Amino acid sequence: MTTTRIDPLSFLSDELAALKQKGTYFKLRVLDDEQAPVCHFDGRKVINLASNNYLGLTTHPKLREAALAATRKYGVGSGAVRTIAGTMKIHMELEEKIARFKGVEACVVFQSGFTANAGTVSSFLGPDDYIISDELNHASIIDGCRLSRAKILVFRHKDVTHAEERLASVANLPGKKLLITDGVFSMDGDIGPLPGLCAAAEKYGAIMMVDDAHSSGVLGRNGRGTIDHFGVHGRVDIQVGTLSKAIGALGGYVCGTRDFIEYLYHRARPFLFSTSHPPSVAATCIAAFDVLEDEPELIERLWTNTHFFKKELGLLGFNVGGVTTPASETPITPIIIGDGRATMDFSKAIFEQGVMGTGIAFPTVPEGKARVRTIVTATHTESELTQALEVLGKVGKQMGLIA
Ligand SMILES: *Cc1c(COP(=O)(O)O)cnc(C)c1O
Repeated sequence: MTTTRIDPLSFLSDELAALKQKGTYFKLRVLDDEQAPVCHFDGRKVINLASNNYLGLTTHPKLREAALAATRKYGVGSGAVRTIAGTMKIHMELEEKIARFKGVEACVVFQSGFTANAGTVSSFLGPDDYIISDELNHASIIDGCRLSRAKILVFRHKDVTHAEERLASVANLPGKKLLITDGVFSMDGDIGPLPGLCAAAEKYGAIMMVDDAHSSGVLGRNGRGTIDHFGVHGRVDIQVGTLSKAIGALGGYVCGTRDFIEYLYHRARPFLFSTSHPPSVAATCIAAFDVLEDEPELIERLWTNTHFFKKELGLLGFNVGGVTTPASETPITPIIIGDGRATMDFSKAIFEQGVMGTGIAFPTVPEGKARVRTIVTATHTESELTQALEVLGKVGKQMGLIA
């Protein structure tokens, strides 16, 4: 006897149809060659304004060489989670290197920035604790907060006074308090108000945590991040960074006291239950920190390109975020369009003209705040950026986004 099985997942077709109806359905764009400032996606040559490869390290010869050498010497995998048999010397070497670079006691590396945030926040807080969190914090922070089951008090974006009010509202209640912010906000490119937030955390005895995913390798001396940028050393208890963006490889790290890091060894679930990096990844990252120290001109070029591109983009008349002045102070510049469908159409049109700028809509950004996010890197030439600006201007006018 045969029975016809009704697909229990058939409701997903309706969900996808709804996305198509809204105009925010997308297909993955596939990179044919290296992650580079000019490369081929889906067979089309484009100027790439979509990657987080700030310093061009994904293809840096020293990093490539380090990965190959480590693979020859140690093989391709670590074979276990860190707490069983998967801690290799090269993992420890990387962590010590990052701790020295950041000027902190200790560091632990996770498989990604996402697991670093989610695994850390969920490990040391519980239902009786409070998390005071910026409304635009990264999804990995939000997931970590939810996993911890602590009570979450959201404060208005970058609003120190509101954060302080939130802290004050729970000051007399038992339970730990964590104040948490992105160093650089990934969708808007603006910088978290660390000095004010540190002062608020100190006033109320809260633990202070900063996620520097988009600031590692970008801000501060040799890319030491927002803590160094603002000179708030010693005032941030937990610093998270990523090895997947400017560092060019993959991973996330957490810096703090020796005790805090040892606690994470025992309680952070991605550390306990998911295999550690292949040795090639650790070796690549070690080489990347050497490059940050030895080739400061990369970061200088990143900022020269950033200032040039931002100024020209503003002159074209695009809405680049912010109420009075442009909000972004970093290589990330959003072109805010608002409507999801118009954003995807704009992204498609510039792609056809040879510029890769990804359209980002709900739920990655709030409803009505859809945008094409642009990111310049150290390795773009001025002529490539000029060409990209011409395309953005031309298509922007055709579509009535600018006058
Ligand atoms: C990208 C990002 C992460 C995640 O980092 P991955 O290494 O890509 O997992 C975490 N936080 C912020 C703010 C980010 O932008």
